[in-house]
Amino acid sequence: MADVKKIAVIAGDGIGPEVVAEAIKVMNKTEELFGYKFSFEQGLFGGIAIDEKGTPLPQDTLDMCKRADAVLLGAVGGPKWDNNPKELRPETGLLGIRKALGLFSNIRPATIFDCLKEASTLKPEVLEGTDLIVVRELTGGIYFGEKFRREGENGQEAVDTCVYNVAEVERIVRQAFEIAQKRRKFLTSVDKANVLETSRLWREVVNRIAPEYPDVELEHVLVDNCAMQLLRRPSSFDVIVTENMFGDILSDEAAMLTGSIGMLSSASLGEGAFGLYEPVHGSAPDIAGRGIANPIATILSVALMFRLTFGYEDAAKSIEDAVAEVLNAGHRTGDIAVDKSKAIGTQAMGELIVAAMRK
Ligand code: NAD
Repeated sequence: MADVKKIAVIAGDGIGPEVVAEAIKVMNKTEELFGYKFSFEQGLFGGIAIDEKGTPLPQDTLDMCKRADAVLLGAVGGPKWDNNPKELRPETGLLGIRKALGLFSNIRPATIFDCLKEASTLKPEVLEGTDLIVVRELTGGIYFGEKFRREGENGQEAVDTCVYNVAEVERIVRQAFEIAQKRRKFLTSVDKANVLETSRLWREVVNRIAPEYPDVELEHVLVDNCAMQLLRRPSSFDVIVTENMFGDILSDEAAMLTGSIGMLSSASLGEGAFGLYEPVHGSAPDIAGRGIANPIATILSVALMFRLTFGYEDAAKSIEDAVAEVLNAGHRTGDIAVDKSKAIGTQAMGELIVAAMRK
């Protein structure tokens, strides 16, 4: 009997339930085509959980995620909860779930679909062949270091400290090497080792670990140079690994190469193969309930789950090829359509992708 993979499904708020429904159709089709088996459990999270359970992250939802092999999340949040106190805000639930599940890295692919090159602000010839992943450390660095104000000689000063220990660097760097091994085997480690002590430690650890992955070519690039090269020659990158703040900035820069937020998938990974997969976009309250959201970001998040958590490369590829085929045939949701009058809805897009999946 096939190994049954347990997937915790959190539809969330706004367009979350609409796009997640299409992603589930894709998983059902994968079972049919490839013989893999999934079991789904649904849980409340975010605004809907605040309304129904009085907390953004109910304990039973967290328990469900801990029992699962992977989590698929739609999106959370919306104007209804924006003015709530901190503990009753959907974003507090997001931080809570990442911490409780020990997710220490954030993975964001930026892949250019040829037929959407026009949607980017960069020239099509610069984008040609771009297919990269940014691996960002998520739980250390300057965002989590000690912060305080003090009186200095020239008045008030503010201090943010950036701290990394060897173990924190090691685990994310290993993860990045492993991801590179499953791709084009080229890893770019980004730091600011000419100035920062944390970066010098980062680089030492990367160099010490590198010989364990002899099949992966490694380069070190300073963060300012990386920001430039992403715009100049994005197709030369495969996997980029970096610390928290650099990764925050570079992953947004890389995301914008593709031109549309409705296309971007992401994963947050912990120890082992466990991961939480979600589209980069939010709950899009402005279009929620109208059946017009683009489900591709969520569907590509499923492909990422298959590749990174389950090692189902064949199924991941089948989904990505189906998305490309449907786009090449000219089908577009409103966010990526040039002629908005020809745009199709969320369900129609999901169903076309399911129909285009092949073994
Ligand atoms: P958003 O990503 O929800 O929307 C930004 C714009 O992009 C909107 O015009 C929206 O209509 C459009 N858009 C987003 N996804 C789309 C899709 N799949 N198809 C078509 N168009 C799409 O960002 P926002 O408006 O800043 O935030 C809305 C809410 O989402 C806020 O409450 C915010 O806190 C929350 N949010 C949640 C997450 C998350 O769940 N991880 C991430 C970002 C924002």
